[in-house]
Amino acid sequence: MPFNVSGLAQGVGMKSAKRPYIPDWASALIHARAARRCHAHCRVSKKPCGQPAMRGKRVCRLHGGKGGGPKGERNGAYRTGGHYTAEAKAERQQVRMLIRGLRHLIDSGE
Ligand SMILES: [Zn+2]
Repeated sequence: MPFNVSGLAQGVGMKSAKRPYIPDWASALIHARAARRCHAHCRVSKKPCGQPAMRGKRVCRLHGGKGGGPKGERNGAYRTGGHYTAEAKAERQQVRMLIRGLRHLIDSGE
């Protein structure tokens, strides 16, 4: 025997507290099981992923939870002079909302 294992085995499950002893990993496992689940679905089976989601995210590390690509010009898909950046899209969305509101105003005026 390379080292004495019998000394390590002693005292397992023999805590002196009256309530049953729950090891640290077991109580941590309760929290891990309660973690929010990944909402992504498998491409093949169409079943939900079910892995624990990343902290503050809705998806697991395999489904984009680790983050996306770099923003702006550093991104490889950056073309057309930034026509599809988040800011440009948000601006167009606002303009559309404004036009919709004005059309509604014009229609209701007549
Ligand atoms: Zn996932």
